[in-house]
Amino acid sequence: MSNELRIKFWGVRGSYPAPGAGTVKYGGNTASVEVRAGERTILLDAGTGIIPLGRELARSKRTSEIMLLFSHLHHDHTQGFPFFVPAYMPSTKLHIFGPDGMHESLRNVLEHNQSSETFPVSLRDMSATKNIQSVRESQIIVWDEAGVRLAESTAGVGNEAVVIGIHKSYAHPGGVYVYRITWRGKSIVYATDTEGYVGTDKRLVKFARNTDVLIHDAQYLDEHYWGQLEGFPSTQGYGHSTVKMACEVAYASEAGQLVLFHHDPSYSDAMIAGMEASAKTQISETQAAYEGLEILVHSENKISEQYQSPNLHTRDVKYANND
Ligand SMILES: [Zn+2]
Ligand SMILES: [Zn+2]
Repeated sequence: MSNELRIKFWGVRGSYPAPGAGTVKYGGNTASVEVRAGERTILLDAGTGIIPLGRELARSKRTSEIMLLFSHLHHDHTQGFPFFVPAYMPSTKLHIFGPDGMHESLRNVLEHNQSSETFPVSLRDMSATKNIQSVRESQIIVWDEAGVRLAESTAGVGNEAVVIGIHKSYAHPGGVYVYRITWRGKSIVYATDTEGYVGTDKRLVKFARNTDVLIHDAQYLDEHYWGQLEGFPSTQGYGHSTVKMACEVAYASEAGQLVLFHHDPSYSDAMIAGMEASAKTQISETQAAYEGLEILVHSENKISEQYQSPNLHTRDVKYANND
């Protein structure tokens, strides 16, 4: 059995897919991330990135049991699911967890996404065995030799188990779940679709404390967020972060490394490369997620020792806005 905790990014874009010559380097698919804990496969969100991911799982015969976690149910996190090949395989057991919508259950939202008016195949007619359950912040998802279950605490859970904690954030319209996946003492925090607070999001920082890899929303350039970028109205309050906000959470939580995620669909490769470069001046263990990026999680890095800019809110970096 593999002893590795790995992450692979299949969709890194926020809001809507962004194909084209200007997005080749980072990719245009919406949010979907694969985590492999030994032989166990855990998928984070089902944006269009889950479509090639599903094909690869089928090709490599890793479809017998798959867990899919939804951060929330906005389009860019669900729109790939109707095209997820393993969901059509009778031999696949699919565990689907996430929050309920504001007015509807998780299951109902997924069913409506595939209503007969909008898609030819209903959720029910996808032939995988589906265990769909909405989860609460107080619950913990456990995957061990005995299978997948929900628990109220980690009491009695062995070190071999994949343990997933849930943090409900209110820093996105309708709320969003942040997940912490822990296995054999290593951990990953997936914090997409979240907006930073002045003085940092203290609850998120606590939840992400000492994680090895922090995947954090970094959709906007500072100038865009504040409405100072030509042609881009201010996005304050939209529920997404700037690079600075992501760096602040990474620093305050003493994460091992930071991955910038949920890139704005209107941003070119050059703009994201500029954001990545500016983030690196603040935290060297940082990279912008791109389709195909793989990370082998280890526990050696510590951002706090490398952090170079404690006064982020006053830092002013100019970016080239060329396409
Ligand atoms: Zn999103
Ligand atoms: Zn969203």
